[in-house]
Amino acid sequence: MNQVAVWWIKRDARLADNGAVHEAARNEAFVLPVFCEEPSIRSAGDSSSMHAHAQWQAVSALQDELRRRGGDLHWATSEAVEAFERLHRIAPFQRLVSHEEIGNAATYQRDRAVAAWCRARSVEYVEVPQSSVKRGGVNRDRFQVLWKSRIEGAEPLPEIAVRQSPELLVLGCRPTTPSWPAAATNWQVVTEVAGQRTLRDFLDRRGLWYRGGISSPNTADSRLSVHLAWGTLSVRQVWYATQQRLSHLRADAPEGSDRWTKSLEAFTSRLHWRDHFTQRLESEPDLEFRSIHPAYRNVPYGDDPALLEAWCTGRTGVPLVDAVMRCLAATGFVNFRMRAMVVSYACHALHLSWQAIHPHLAGVFRDYDPGIHLSQLQMQAGVVGWNPIRVYNPTKQLADWDAAGRFTKRWVPELRDVPAERLLNLEAEPVPGYRPPVVPFVERTKEMKDWLYAIRQSQDPTMTAAVYARHGSRKPQRSAPARPKRLPKRDLQLRLFE
Ligand SMILES: Cc1cc2nc3c(=O)[nH]c(=O)nc-3n(C[C@H](O)[C@H](O)[C@H](O)COP(=O)(O)OP(=O)(O)OC[C@H]3O[C@@H](n4cnc5c(N)ncnc54)[C@H](O)[C@@H]3O)c2cc1C
Repeated sequence: MNQVAVWWIKRDARLADNGAVHEAARNEAFVLPVFCEEPSIRSAGDSSSMHAHAQWQAVSALQDELRRRGGDLHWATSEAVEAFERLHRIAPFQRLVSHEEIGNAATYQRDRAVAAWCRARSVEYVEVPQSSVKRGGVNRDRFQVLWKSRIEGAEPLPEIAVRQSPELLVLGCRPTTPSWPAAATNWQVVTEVAGQRTLRDFLDRRGLWYRGGISSPNTADSRLSVHLAWGTLSVRQVWYATQQRLSHLRADAPEGSDRWTKSLEAFTSRLHWRDHFTQRLESEPDLEFRSIHPAYRNVPYGDDPALLEAWCTGRTGVPLVDAVMRCLAATGFVNFRMRAMVVSYACHALHLSWQAIHPHLAGVFRDYDPGIHLSQLQMQAGVVGWNPIRVYNPTKQLADWDAAGRFTKRWVPELRDVPAERLLNLEAEPVPGYRPPVVPFVERTKEMKDWLYAIRQSQDPTMTAAVYARHGSRKPQRSAPARPKRLPKRDLQLRLFE
């Protein structure tokens, strides 16, 4: 019998541009796709039913695709090590292949346990990177090199035909559909097909207004984050499709292409940020538990449970903060500025530590991605040490980005009949049926800023320079816009499980 390789599906439930599938199928091996729904990961503090549902949806769709191609996947509801031990007894496999996950402490511990199990069973364990992030950390000056070689310098991999042995096909299964919360119908669909559709729709239609339109809660950005987070799209696929679109725009130069080009260039830089922040967590895993800069590890936060509860449930008496928190709980998505604003309000006005707000916020982000999330939380809390300390005033944000109150009134129905201009002055003129602000914004934020500035003034500059050298961003090197070397050929799009 041919060798058998397990493709361990993690945050990469897709068939196109999947290095793990290619690696598993090497040397004509029979491939056994396995997904493990692990209790230890599901019960971690930063996990939620929104995440479980996203992954369930992505893996179910992948399984349907595999079945259409005559294949299947094995869906285990147990810890990965237990699942592999069970499978190994039934179908001794020689290799275990997964993508190189850059996750939190729980997934890291799990990966170590799997690696130890592989060593004990003489199973080769191969991890394939799917981003430019370097395992174990990287000198930041070399970061661009990895981006250029792994993302810019390599076309997305085509779908390949992999073989599945008939004996292993009987291992395919899917647990009965869990009963998801009613709100799940509002959650963005996470499947490979939906990812491709969203990408095309953004590049062909919605992307025109990306630049200049990404701050208002009423306008959407690319909406690709869930696909990148759960792996129904790879960053390379997105980057490559964007470069193709840019090449066409530049070649055709139709009217309005300048706006298009600028929008897509701005979008491309966000893709770099993604790996930049993920690298930060990979290089410094303690980031999950303590501030990246040692001087900011003892900020005197109050962590008042009543204020935390008011923030989580969208009952702070601050209209835009409440609207964003309720929108997040219902849909799992708001844009960057609104995320930054609610974190800034929690840390600076409510004096909640980023550690205290992390579990709830991670849980209501359908696109939760630990590397981006933890880095951004600390930046918006002002504890990174070299970024400017930025306090967002929710009333100013309301005036700037939701002046007519459309978004706010949608999510805070108590305010539906209140004139928009009055929403800007609720502190002085409370509305019956809507809670007055839980804290006085100006005094509380001044107190927190004073603490943070005092730390900043007394912080050791050599320490800041050292933390910056390890984790800070570098100016991107200007280079001619990269052109894809060649377009993927249709005949390379082989079908899986032929
Ligand atoms: C407190 C806070 C927490 C965040 N947590 C997450 C998270 O868990 N997961 C997540 O994907 N994004 C997170 N972000 C970053 C950003 O808000 C989202 O990526 C973005 O809003 C997703 O929408 P989009 O795909 O339409 O973004 P677009 O603007 O269209 O960006 C395209 C892609 O670039 C990446 N990206 C965009 N902005 C950033 C950024 N500032 N930093 C790093 N990568 C970026 C994302 O992968 C995104 O999908 C967080 C931001 C803040 C302020």
